[in-house]
Amino acid sequence: MAITKEANYDLVIIGAGAAGFTAAYQAAHRGLKKVLLVEKGRHTGGSGEYIEGAFAVNSKLQQEKGVNIDPEDVINEELDYSHYEADVTTWKQYVAESGKIIDWLGDLGAKYIDVKPLGSGERTWHLFVGLGKEVIHGVLEPKVKDLGVEIITSVSAKSLKKDADGKITGVVLESEADHSNTEVQTKAVIIATGGYLNNKELIANETGYDSERLIPVNSGKNTGDGLKLAWDIGARKYRMGMAMLFGGYLKDPLTPAFVYRYSQLNGTAAEQSLLWVNESGNRFVNEEVVDNFAYAGNALFTQNKTFSIVDQNAIDHLMNNGLQRPMSTWHTDLTKLTDLQKNIDEALDKGLPYIYKADTIEELAEKIKAPNLPATVQKYNEFADKGEDADFGKQAKYILKVNKAPYYAMELGVGAFCTMGGLKVNTNNEVLDTNGSVIPGLYAAGNDAAGNLIGDTYGPNMPGTEAGYSFYSGKHSADCVVDYLNK
Ligand SMILES: Cc1cc2nc3c(=O)[nH]c(=O)nc-3n(C[C@H](O)[C@H](O)[C@H](O)COP(=O)(O)OP(=O)(O)OC[C@H]3O[C@@H](n4cnc5c(N)ncnc54)[C@H](O)[C@@H]3O)c2cc1C
Repeated sequence: MAITKEANYDLVIIGAGAAGFTAAYQAAHRGLKKVLLVEKGRHTGGSGEYIEGAFAVNSKLQQEKGVNIDPEDVINEELDYSHYEADVTTWKQYVAESGKIIDWLGDLGAKYIDVKPLGSGERTWHLFVGLGKEVIHGVLEPKVKDLGVEIITSVSAKSLKKDADGKITGVVLESEADHSNTEVQTKAVIIATGGYLNNKELIANETGYDSERLIPVNSGKNTGDGLKLAWDIGARKYRMGMAMLFGGYLKDPLTPAFVYRYSQLNGTAAEQSLLWVNESGNRFVNEEVVDNFAYAGNALFTQNKTFSIVDQNAIDHLMNNGLQRPMSTWHTDLTKLTDLQKNIDEALDKGLPYIYKADTIEELAEKIKAPNLPATVQKYNEFADKGEDADFGKQAKYILKVNKAPYYAMELGVGAFCTMGGLKVNTNNEVLDTNGSVIPGLYAAGNDAAGNLIGDTYGPNMPGTEAGYSFYSGKHSADCVVDYLNK
């Protein structure tokens, strides 16, 4: 059975997530008649379904809310944050278009809850009603179908074809059902496969992260396919090595990672500023680093193992008084964690591997094999009495004494939402080869192309940058393809 309806397309888009759908809409809207959107999963949407909000400056919503952010300040902040590893031209172009993209999605039907900062960042995060799922399936997908784009699922792009002049000529597709291959002809391809967070080998070989402790919390389908397709035909490998870390995450190989995303247990262990220790039982950072979740991820990776130490005092405090800090993405106020004790007991009853309980700190230290824990706790309690953290400078209000049994240790890995980078693109989102020349007809958008935006650490200071870029670069790459085909 044929995988596709046609043998020839104007444009093939690989990956039906945030960037792929935006590109498909724009390409068909601009008049391309034969557009194929290929998705390897059984359903479309990718990690784009989980997007909470997208970055923009000078959107209508920001204007209504009186949010004035100077584009120049954003660009300078990003250059500084990335140590000038980010590409200034890409940022300029993106920032200039970002507000228009949010308005454009709004005109197409996307609805916004509000525009918010994240922690102490800028107010750039345009939060979608119904998350990215609604934007993709409620807004873009019906329009893409109406415009006649052919969407196929359970089909993977396996290789790209180019002619003697180096121009793209086709894509080889493989059906999941029977592994049959079909080659379709096309003059242009947009790669939008969402990065390589789910490819353990690429994470281990291409990043500095401990792949055993990195916990992907995403669609599970971002395995670096698009990057490999492009590298295979000469594309430059660019800016591998950065994942959107979002701080500590309960290390539980027995439970799907998503279960902890909005859990009170994870919120306690990873998102407050309770006592954190390493494999020896020593503190290693001011736990207020959770204010920037990407920094928190980096800090946790400096150690071999990390544990959050929680005693009955902390539990009582969080259950009765509420959260210590409203920094998390899942609570915007100081909510009381009324289910916390129940969640802890359930985790222990199930024998989940990350949680330890003891009646004394000495016993807990033995259980987690962290010999310095008793001395660390003693010192920490002295800091609590004095109201001063002489080692790391944590503010007194966050130093809760650890002196009420039972005591718990919860092992933390590091959560991540996506990677950014892999291919070098120019300002038309055309993919560049190892000499810096354009591979004619090959474009990339979304996470695969986002290396131009970053240094070594994601920037929650400017929240929503990745989703915003996926929508922006999807639309922009489609516009550039139309111009290329019209030449
Ligand atoms: C829980 C969560 C929350 C997030 N929240 C935010 C947020 O609030 N703000 C923000 O800026 N970012 C956020 N992100 C990141 C954001 O989701 C991504 O940056 C965005 O989805 C990237 O879009 P994309 O199109 O590049 O990839 P995706 O949306 O993942 O789409 C890629 C698609 O390509 C498909 N694919 C892969 N390989 C192939 C192949 N060989 N052939 C065919 N198809 C293939 C995949 O199956 C997938 O459907 C979040 C991510 C997660 C997981």
